[in-house]
Amino acid sequence: MHRRQNVRRALLLVSFLLFPVTFYYLSPYLIIMGAGERTASGSMVVFGVMTLTALVLGRLFCGWVCPAGGLTEALFAVQNRKANNRRNWTRWLVWVPWIAVIILVTLRAGGIQRVDILYQTDHGISLTTASGMGPYIIFYAVLALIFVLSLTAGRRGFCHHTCWMAPFMMIGRGVRNTFRLPAVQLSADTPSCVGCYACTSACPMSLEVQAMVLSQRMENSECILCGTCVDVCPHNVIRYEFGRPRSTNPVRPEKP
Ligand code: SF4
Ligand code: SF4
Ligand code: SF4
Repeated sequence: MHRRQNVRRALLLVSFLLFPVTFYYLSPYLIIMGAGERTASGSMVVFGVMTLTALVLGRLFCGWVCPAGGLTEALFAVQNRKANNRRNWTRWLVWVPWIAVIILVTLRAGGIQRVDILYQTDHGISLTTASGMGPYIIFYAVLALIFVLSLTAGRRGFCHHTCWMAPFMMIGRGVRNTFRLPAVQLSADTPSCVGCYACTSACPMSLEVQAMVLSQRMENSECILCGTCVDVCPHNVIRYEFGRPRSTNPVRPEKP
């Protein structure tokens, strides 16, 4: 495997191993609990930062840092079937009501009056021996959900169907695309593509990457900028770049 992908997998694995420490900073529940106490919890801050950084970095967090992403990719060893990208709307069934609850609780509490990044943690650590059973049960329930969806709904099934964090980055990226701001993105040298499908086969988000290359539409809300397609392409067709969204101009592929 390409060295860059080894580094990426290693980062994801380390992040997953640190998940008991970082769990509260990604918690969908503590954000509500904090809002009820007029407090911006660590997870509220992190989700805000995710949205803002996505303006420039897109979903790099998903591809390179996310602890849940680390577990989903570790499970590729057990199940590596492609996911169905046409059912990704299910994640909004989780996200929209959850955001509505956060807004309602915030309004009822009288607004946010302080920021406490370490909210409910023990000196910054989410789960400790003093946490009691409850937080551990929730932690293992989340792991079980990721596990089950990854095994039943295809590669990174949890990312496609349930994740409450992805919408923040998708919104940030959508704003970037609307205003054509410079950001990390993929580009493709379409005439060099020989149609081997290595990129499509390897994409952890089950995207039709070769079709994206042929249509010169490398922007996709499900792309996590993991660089797998960049690294598996034998002809260096796909590249990372930093720039404004490219206007599409489909090029007919050369025959293999
Ligand atoms: S979609 Fe969600 S669970 Fe998957 S890598 Fe991104 S933030 Fe993590
Ligand atoms: S299109 Fe490429 S960079 Fe995007 S998720 Fe798929 S393999 Fe990763
Ligand atoms: S891996 Fe490269 S050459 Fe093969 S289909 Fe993808 S872009 Fe084309």
